[in-house]
Amino acid sequence: MTLETTSEAVRDNPPRVGWDLHCHTVFSDGTRTPRELVELAVSAGLLGVAITDHDTSSGWRAAAKAAREAGLPLLRGTEITSEFGRTSVHMLAYQYDPHSARIIELFHRTRMARLTRAKVMVERLANDFPISWESVLDQVKEGDQTTVGRPHIADALVHAGVYGTRSEAFAGAINSRSRYYVPTPSPAALDVVRTVRDAGGVTVVAHPADAGRNRILLSDTQIEQLAGAGLDGLEVWHRGNAPEQRMRLLGLARRFNLLTTGGSDWHGSGKPNRLGEHLTAQDTVRRIVERGAIDLAGGPMRTAG
Ligand code: AMP
Ligand code: ZN
Ligand code: FE
Ligand code: FE
Repeated sequence: MTLETTSEAVRDNPPRVGWDLHCHTVFSDGTRTPRELVELAVSAGLLGVAITDHDTSSGWRAAAKAAREAGLPLLRGTEITSEFGRTSVHMLAYQYDPHSARIIELFHRTRMARLTRAKVMVERLANDFPISWESVLDQVKEGDQTTVGRPHIADALVHAGVYGTRSEAFAGAINSRSRYYVPTPSPAALDVVRTVRDAGGVTVVAHPADAGRNRILLSDTQIEQLAGAGLDGLEVWHRGNAPEQRMRLLGLARRFNLLTTGGSDWHGSGKPNRLGEHLTAQDTVRRIVERGAIDLAGGPMRTAG
């Protein structure tokens, strides 16, 4: 007998109480405000919640004020658009220093690229559907502060009566397989891990095995490389990861000593995902906070001594 414990069976044991670490608001493509997120999290009995809008920290201030008033703990986060080879990778970044020059530059570049990309898609769509760039901007709730994405184009198509819901638009003209689709030029996932680390933050790959988002999923080797670059965790409990993929991810997390998290990917009424449908354990959140650059009040972490 060796001392190897890797043969010990991996069991899927999702947290039954805890935090929802993956939520979108009007500061990206969610339909509710940060305050509504906090209030709904309280009603749902969550221990705490993370705000994770796409490629921005603009919603943090409003979320923090609401969380303080409601007495609900808040994790500050962002879902960062990136890619690894031909695979689109969404990287959840938590508790980093939002004043980091590298982070600010990263978000600026992606947000500009998103605008250019959305405008090209709208130009193409406007040939066949009654929408315009102005009608898309009408769907953007927080002006320049909001990260623009395909959901805003979807909402303009719904407003114009082309589709009944955002999800129908995603199944139709704005689908990544449609001829109107344009990808967003994105930073490399390995660079995003390094940049967030440099800003003192914690990184977790969002929905790492969502077959609906990628034809080619991240491989074991790619996840090993991300872990080597300083990745902290994998979002195992997410509706996009099939049961056998969750087992695979749990095995990889054990092998590479990664945290395992859960999140709903809540978008308000923009997606069927229910707030709190997948959770992260309190102990895992504690470790994220310990590793991060800022504390739960958003101030710099005090180091011992
Ligand atoms: P983009 O990042 O601009 O390519 O847009 C993709 C984003 O749309 C992803 O973050 C999805 O979570 C989001 N999204 C919001 N609502 C929906 C929906 N109903 N169906 C599919 N994706 C959606
Ligand atoms: Zn989204
Ligand atoms: Fe995502
Ligand atoms: Fe998301």
